[in-house]
Amino acid sequence: MTDANPTPARSHERPPVYVIGGGPGGLAAAASLKAHGVRAVVLEKSDRVAASWRAHYDRLHLHTTRRLSSLPGLPIPRRFGRWVSRDNVVRYLEKYAEYHDLEVVTGVEVTRVDRAEDGSGWILRATGGRELSCAAVVVATGYNHTPRLPDWPGSATYTGTLLHASAYRGPAPYAGQDVLVVGVGNTGAEIAVDLIEGGAARVRLAVRTAPHIVRRSTLGWPAQLTGILCRRLPVRLVDRLAVPLGRLSVPDLTEHGLPRPDTGLYSRAREGSIPVQDVGLIDAVRAGKVEPVAAVDAFDGDAVVLSDGTRVTPDTVIAATGYSQGLESLVGHLDVLDPRTGRPRTALPGLYCTGYTNPISGMLREMARDADRIAKAVAKRA
Ligand SMILES: Cc1cc2nc3c(=O)[nH]c(=O)nc-3n(C[C@H](O)[C@H](O)[C@H](O)COP(=O)(O)OP(=O)(O)OC[C@H]3O[C@@H](n4cnc5c(N)ncnc54)[C@H](O)[C@@H]3O)c2cc1C
Repeated sequence: MTDANPTPARSHERPPVYVIGGGPGGLAAAASLKAHGVRAVVLEKSDRVAASWRAHYDRLHLHTTRRLSSLPGLPIPRRFGRWVSRDNVVRYLEKYAEYHDLEVVTGVEVTRVDRAEDGSGWILRATGGRELSCAAVVVATGYNHTPRLPDWPGSATYTGTLLHASAYRGPAPYAGQDVLVVGVGNTGAEIAVDLIEGGAARVRLAVRTAPHIVRRSTLGWPAQLTGILCRRLPVRLVDRLAVPLGRLSVPDLTEHGLPRPDTGLYSRAREGSIPVQDVGLIDAVRAGKVEPVAAVDAFDGDAVVLSDGTRVTPDTVIAATGYSQGLESLVGHLDVLDPRTGRPRTALPGLYCTGYTNPISGMLREMARDADRIAKAVAKRA
């Protein structure tokens, strides 16, 4: 599957399409290109495919269903269950690359994509001084590319332990500790529950904006399916429908410090804050095991200063504060990025991006669909 160097095209051959990134988005694009008769070479900076998934915390399972998370041309095996574990996602992605006999070159980080001078395509600059030319390139370097740690005043001199959630693997190192988790997205919510179950002495959860919480599945009906059905409906309609549904399925946690949000579920999702799928947070908050507190404003010596003026002194702060896409140095000079979000907003002929939205219908599902669209567009151009 892998070799040390991208094989350059011989003079009589058409250069391959290069796919930057060997995660699910890149692998799906490569498989679809191959299915459309286009040679694709995946360039992956780490030493194996699925690098992001290998680095996720131990407890993680997909919150989208197995059936709705499969990539083109190979379903996720039934034996992996409905909610696929992290290790099985990795197994699936390894198998996926092998099954489709994808050309994956590992240890190659693409640092910049430029237009070819003669306008015929693209030049990729990569580690080791490589320059690769191609008629088309697919950028699939990941939505969760660069951990984002807010520049909190005083954080540099904080005397406790401060880490980003991307460095969290499991609860063992925090057993018996007082831990503050910052941010209540899916990752922060799940880490808080994991810490409690793993023996942390106290877990607080710093919340800036009350999240929308949904059941991962209700009477067997997955939240993801509702997301798929609602995706094309008007935002305001979905916002309105979500209110009674939320009240029916999720108890009011206001008295426990987690009020119902006052912004629409779909409006928030469109801005990138998808709802939190409950994997234990509701029960943990109701039982007082996870304590919601105000947002973090600053650090001061051994203390964390919250936005309501409270000072707390946890042993460890875990910042589940998201990621940036880190696309500026790669494609920022091509004027394809939204200056506000840093995510792709326009396409250019022969330059395709996948995996830079976070839809309520599930990212894996959307990347699978993107892969087919990209492959058709490339095949048509060729
Ligand atoms: C904790 C967590 C849970 C998630 N759960 C779900 C879920 O349940 N369902 C769902 O649909 N989605 C989920 N997602 C979202 C999404 O499906 C995953 O993040 C998925 O891995 C995205 O795939 P990707 O290929 O776009 O990016 P990644 O998996 O991040 O892959 C990008 C790859 O590109 C490589 N790379 C990066 N930069 C370069 C470069 N310059 N040159 C070469 N290689 C490079 C990286 O090493 C990596 O291997 C989850 C995300 C996270 C963070």
